[in-house]
Amino acid sequence: MALSRERLRADGDAFMEEVSREFYLVHSGLKATAELQPIYARYARVLGPAALDLVRGEFHDAAPGSEAHRAARLMLEWEVESQTGRALAELEEREIAWEAATVVSLPDGRAFPYQRLAIEIANTTDRRERLALDDARATAVETGLVQIRRDRLQQEREFVESLEIGSDYNSAFTLMSGISLDDLVAECRECLRDTESAWADLLPRAAQRSLGVPVADLTRADALALLRAPEFDRYFPGSDMEASVRRQVTEMGIDPDAEGRIRYDTGERAAKRARAFCAPVRVPEEVYLVMRPHGGQTDYQTLLHELGHALHFAYTRADYPFEYRWVGDNSVTESYAMLFDHLMQHPRWLLRYTGLGKRELPPFLRAAALEELQFLRRYCAKLIYEVQLYGGQLSWDSIPDLYVETLTEATTFRYRRADAFIDVDARFYAARYLRAWQLGALLAESLTEQFNEDWFRNPRAGPWIVENLFAEGQREMADELAQRVTGRSLSFAPVIAAVERLLI
Ligand SMILES: [Zn+2]
Repeated sequence: MALSRERLRADGDAFMEEVSREFYLVHSGLKATAELQPIYARYARVLGPAALDLVRGEFHDAAPGSEAHRAARLMLEWEVESQTGRALAELEEREIAWEAATVVSLPDGRAFPYQRLAIEIANTTDRRERLALDDARATAVETGLVQIRRDRLQQEREFVESLEIGSDYNSAFTLMSGISLDDLVAECRECLRDTESAWADLLPRAAQRSLGVPVADLTRADALALLRAPEFDRYFPGSDMEASVRRQVTEMGIDPDAEGRIRYDTGERAAKRARAFCAPVRVPEEVYLVMRPHGGQTDYQTLLHELGHALHFAYTRADYPFEYRWVGDNSVTESYAMLFDHLMQHPRWLLRYTGLGKRELPPFLRAAALEELQFLRRYCAKLIYEVQLYGGQLSWDSIPDLYVETLTEATTFRYRRADAFIDVDARFYAARYLRAWQLGALLAESLTEQFNEDWFRNPRAGPWIVENLFAEGQREMADELAQRVTGRSLSFAPVIAAVERLLI
């Protein structure tokens, strides 16, 4: 029996649920190993050549600009992404197993689980100790993870190119995602130029004051410690965090539990991933928000970010087709996450929902500006680097030097060759983050215009956000959404303007 478009979508839904549940269980530490390959095997029919032919046909037959064309493009993107996932499942399982099982030993005999190291490095105030931890991490990565990641990148590129959707990996991405990498890279170069002097002004003083390290000696490990900013910890008690954030969401007229559809998993568990995540297992019915508290304001920021995702998925229209609920331009969901996590840069939000007082506000906002600029410049550099990495013009052996050069130049922190294949967001996810930054800043401006400076506690704002933003799932591209809601185009201008406001 030939595969119908209805069957493809119904099975796609079931497949996404199983894969997401597996990721949720493993990354939250509730299940020891990921068993992805059996899931891919069960859904072989919707992830094979016949399914690809079907969505390719839909895409070619639909009139450009029509709703059918939009849906078909999303299905093509999903199909290719899922088939790539299937082709790489064995490597992905190995990577997850390596991360879960690796224990990193220091010369003095102490040992740390790999998953815990990023937290340890950020929390270590003794610089020699911090660098020793990072040396040990880099050695462990070089002997194990680098080869897995390099194989994965190589195989991903070869697999996508074998499908002959574009002339190479990057053009296939542009065709399926609707995002022009060339244009975005040009914007990133401009953004790096536009923020250069602010960065050169902020960083040296902050590094000297907080870490006692001259700017010329700064490394990526120092960046983790600098951005951790423990001096503000006491204003962000872990015990109040969830209740404060829930209170704010309630005040803006949204149920933080989404009538039970969002489940919070914020406790400590040994095998839990250091990096927080939101796992939409069924959209919109079952969404998990998982985080592992590290301490301090970073936790607040992380909770807000993941909450933005969780609310988005849990308030997506249940009657939307598979592709609008599950697929689409992730710049959109990331922009909602950023809309929420950027509340940590909002003076009125900070005064109302955290322990921060008026006196601590200026130094805190200055630290926030430093962090924002660091991340912005890092992500601009990452995209510039990753476009060359996936571009295939350079040999794998020359890639680590390019990585160190590009990231170090943009951020000032010295990066390590060992991370060249580790510090990569697959399938140009950096492009989604960068566009999310742009959209999130535009949305914040628009909400301020409509619902005043403290829109985050205006009971009319939440229902508006649910109806006009969250309910739409990811039917639209980030740039379409920006036009519909704000009448403006995406750019870094509102992002840079927001950073400048922090520095006044
Ligand atoms: Zn996110």
